[in-house]
Amino acid sequence: MILVVLLVIFLCLVWFSLRYAWWRPAVDSRYPRILMYHMIAAPRPGARFNGLRVSPQLFERQLHWLSAQGWHSFTVSELLAQADRLPEKSFAITFDDGYADNLLRALPLLKKYQCKATLYLVVHRFDRDWSMQRKKHHDQAELKREAKLSDEQVQELLDSGCIELGSHSMTHANFMRMESEAVRRELVESKNALEERFGISVGSFAYPFGLYHPEQVELVKQAGYSSAVTTREGIENAGSWDALELQRIKISGKDNWLAFLLRMRGGRRGWR
Ligand SMILES: [Zn+2]
Repeated sequence: MILVVLLVIFLCLVWFSLRYAWWRPAVDSRYPRILMYHMIAAPRPGARFNGLRVSPQLFERQLHWLSAQGWHSFTVSELLAQADRLPEKSFAITFDDGYADNLLRALPLLKKYQCKATLYLVVHRFDRDWSMQRKKHHDQAELKREAKLSDEQVQELLDSGCIELGSHSMTHANFMRMESEAVRRELVESKNALEERFGISVGSFAYPFGLYHPEQVELVKQAGYSSAVTTREGIENAGSWDALELQRIKISGKDNWLAFLLRMRGGRRGWR
């Protein structure tokens, strides 16, 4: 009997360790954290993409924690511009795609905690289910049904003074399946469209799905971007980071509080 109990305890410890990788050393707090969000919305029962939905309550708890722990908020471009003189505990919040809740739910909380964010907007974001571009079986149109930011709402975000606008391509295309010329058009046309529509300069890019061939990084540079974020999980030294392939910390709506703290500490959750 006692052996069974010991075995169960042992298996629980293994499970806990693999899930949270608590042994991974903390990354130096002088290295900035770039946090990746999508929607600030309550999870939907049975929905496939609940990882992309961080509830407003959880988002507020995270902002409260960041502020109470003395973290300093920047946009991605500010992080880059000040890379050699960033204070300890610097971070940037990013939102991908352009969901309407970024204005309705996230902005009031960003203002409350005096935080900034970089929004990576898809130009043609309406009536599109980009999850199908990645996996054909994603045919539930779940992301298509999500309300997207109208141009007027994007303008409202910009007027708040807390938001930097970056490009997330024209159509949320999968670069891995595209020729250089088509990728170049996604990069250049989205930058031009956003700059013309909102009268700002767009210097940062987010790879759709985080997918790209290494040689396409040069195209991002040629298109005039000075930074680009990936979906690779990690925390890097701002002194030596590769501005066109920045790693981020994935903030998942499926994570519990411990997982969030460990991601902030080590860049990712789990043993991978
Ligand atoms: Zn996206």
